[in-house]
Formats: sequence, C-alpha cells, structure tokens
Amino acid sequence: MNDTIKDFLKQLVAFESVSSDKSKAEISRKTAEFIKFNLETIGVHVQLIENEKEGNNPLIFGKLGENPRKKTMLFYSHYDVQPAKIEDGWDTDPFTLIEKEDGYLYGRGVNDDKGPIAATFFAIKELLEDNEVLPVNIRFLYEGEEESSSGGFEETVTKYKSFLGKIDGILVLDSSWFTDQKPSIDYGARGIAYMGIEISGPNQDQHSGLVGGSIREPMTDLIFLLSKLSDLKGKVLIEGFYDKVKLVTEEEKSLYDNLAFSLKEYKKSIGVDRVLIEDPVQTMMNMWRNPSITIHGIQGAFSEPGTKTVVPGTVIGKISMRLVPDQDPTEIADLFTHYVKKEFNKTNSPNKLKITAMGVGDWWYGNVENYIYKAGAAAIKEYWKIYPDFTRSGGSIPIIPFMEKALNAPAMILGVGQTSDGAHSQNEHLRLKNLIGGKEVIQIMLKNISKVTE
Ligand SMILES: [Zn+2]
Repeated sequence: MNDTIKDFLKQLVAFESVSSDKSKAEISRKTAEFIKFNLETIGVHVQLIENEKEGNNPLIFGKLGENPRKKTMLFYSHYDVQPAKIEDGWDTDPFTLIEKEDGYLYGRGVNDDKGPIAATFFAIKELLEDNEVLPVNIRFLYEGEEESSSGGFEETVTKYKSFLGKIDGILVLDSSWFTDQKPSIDYGARGIAYMGIEISGPNQDQHSGLVGGSIREPMTDLIFLLSKLSDLKGKVLIEGFYDKVKLVTEEEKSLYDNLAFSLKEYKKSIGVDRVLIEDPVQTMMNMWRNPSITIHGIQGAFSEPGTKTVVPGTVIGKISMRLVPDQDPTEIADLFTHYVKKEFNKTNSPNKLKITAMGVGDWWYGNVENYIYKAGAAAIKEYWKIYPDFTRSGGSIPIIPFMEKALNAPAMILGVGQTSDGAHSQNEHLRLKNLIGGKEVIQIMLKNISKVTE
C-alpha cells in the first residue's frame, strides 16, 4: 500500500500546477482532471467547476454517500503549488518525487497540499475496500488558486454550494504540525486589514539641493504618522482598536498548558535576543490571540544602495494589522482611517493625504469543544500515542470563516507534515511516516465522528 500512495503522490507532484504562473493554466487543469479521475475510481461523483474569476483554475467538487443518518464531512485542500525551479537551490528536480534514505519524500507540494490530498484519498479508498460502506458521507472541495489568494473561491462556492448539500463539518488539510515532534490541530487564525497611507506634495520627485528646506516634505509627514501608530512595546495607539478584543478565559488559557513551545528555541530560530514579553505563553498569545500592527514598507522611497539626493514627491506607507475575535476588519480599517486623518490634520500640512484599505480578511476561531476536535484529537492519540497540541495560526486564512458561514458548519485544521518541511521553500519534503500517519488518523477520525450522536 505504501507503494501505491507514493506512486499516486509522485504522479500528482509531477504536475507543475503553479497558480501564480498563468502559462501553467493547462497543467493546472490537468492536475484537477487527474484528481477527478482518481476520485471517480472510488465512486465519488465529481464535478470540475469553472472558477468564477476568469482565467483562474477550476475547483473540484466531490460527493460520496447520501445517507441522511450519517454525518457529512467536507475535505478542503488545494492542488496548486508555489513556484519552484531547480536553480532556486533545490537538490533535485522539484517536480520529480524523490524518496531519500532519511525517510522523507522530496518535491514541490508534498507538504502543501499534495501529500494531504494523497492521505485523504487513500484513507477513504482503504475504508471503502475494508467495509464497502463509509462511516460518514464525504464531500470534497479542492481549489487551484490558494497560493494566489484563493481568487474566485468565494464567488464560485457561493454559486455552486448546493451541489455539496448539507455539511456537518469542514476538515481543512492545509497545514503542518506546530513542531516537528508533536502532532497538532489548529483552531484559529487572525484576520487582517491591510492599509496604505499616501502622502503627496510636489508634482514629481525633486532635488533636495534645490527644494530642500523650502517645502514640507511628504516623507516627513508619513514618518510622523507611522510613528503614531504604535508605541515601542507594540501597543497599537489607534483609538478603539482594542475595544472588541475578547478577554482570555480560563478555558482558553488552559489550551496553552504543555504546548511544545520553547521560547529559547523560538528566539534562536528567528535570531532575536529578547521578545516583547519574556514569557512563553504571553509570546504565543501575542502571536495568535492578540492583535498586532506591522509597518511593511514605503512605496516611492529611495531604497537603493548609495546616496541619491531625492525628495520623493509621493510616498505610500504600507501597514497591516492582524486581527482577532471580535474585531471587525472593516470597522478596524475605518478606525485606522479616522485616527490617521485626525493626526494628520493636527500637523497643518499642505500635503495631500489619501488612505486606502488595500485588503481585509476575517479571523477564524474554532470551538475546541466541538465533536470534530474531540474525534480528531482522539484519533491522533490512538495513532501517535500522544494527545495533540491545540494551536492557532498568527496568519490569516479568510476562506475558513467564509466556508463556515457559506456551508453553515464548523471547521478544523488537521496538520499532516512537520513544521520544518519547507512548505513554499526549497527542497520541500514530507516524512513518509507523516503521510501514512495522516491517512491513518483520517480513517480513525471518520470512524470516531460516525459514533457521535448530536
Ligand atoms: Zn497550502
């Protein structure tokens, strides 16, 4: 069986389904057709649904089982991958699956998400071979644009979701364990509001030897405004920013007990001597459950080596805020705009200010008391002989809260690979043990879910 699953994964990896490269659209479509073909061999009713966003890769909708007395679980993954070229520093061809002596499989997408797709497919295939009846009804929702911000996903799912019918739970297989040693389940992700502050003054860039000293420079205004966004301890100074942030409850706090997180290792891994609060639980909370603000860069600023004596005519500061329950991203964008305008007005500048919300995305918070989490954790305990860590992502996965709302069902993220698998990076890999473990955990979990009577 190990050879069959590896062979399936080898074929899947061979498709260069890079969604950011439009010249690969035909290959991406072939990838979707390959998955459709394989799902059909085990009796899944599959439809390739054209993406509502023109030119984007199709979605795969699949249906297996219609028993109204059984729960219906939906699997989400993506079949597209990040770009990869051997010149980027890969040891072997990224689109040829290689198994090495170290027990790992190497190739683009093995961790993210082609390995998880293989684990899911074989989990269900084997269950069918063993019992001929499945413990639950299964639905598939696979997309081919995740690595390109899931363009068209929401529109397409909204339009065609009736194909999937009633869903009881969403299993997101698009993640890794929090560490290399211990399995984990994710129950949350932060939202985001990405803002631009544009300041324009002179009609074009000027020479500092000519205008320097005579005008109020846009960059001065921008730096002044950026300095008003947070203090040196990371506290966001925008009025009302924290008003809707949920307080930590005792139950939530207990989820941080015994997590496989070492502050020392964390600091070492990112190369810093100190963190804002020298405490492991506070640090995890700062990454996952507290909001934050980051200044990413300034468009229009001189940023090359050397000395250019330019006075930039227009500069745009790029800022994002990671948001948490119950902050509303649109409301936060409005608070930001209001605050920055107010600060700017105080400066009596002749320059022009324009603020743009460049993108907003919702946070996601799953209920770990839900039966899916219990079934998943029990399956991990049974297979890996250890209870998983319940962790959150500091990043943003807006399609999860979207799916929860659109399909009216709770979601959970099940990690398959390990944290150092190098997803998105060179020599992406997946431990064969994790591929097989992922498959086994899915099987046990589905059986556990079938026993739930709620
Ligand atoms: Zn992914």
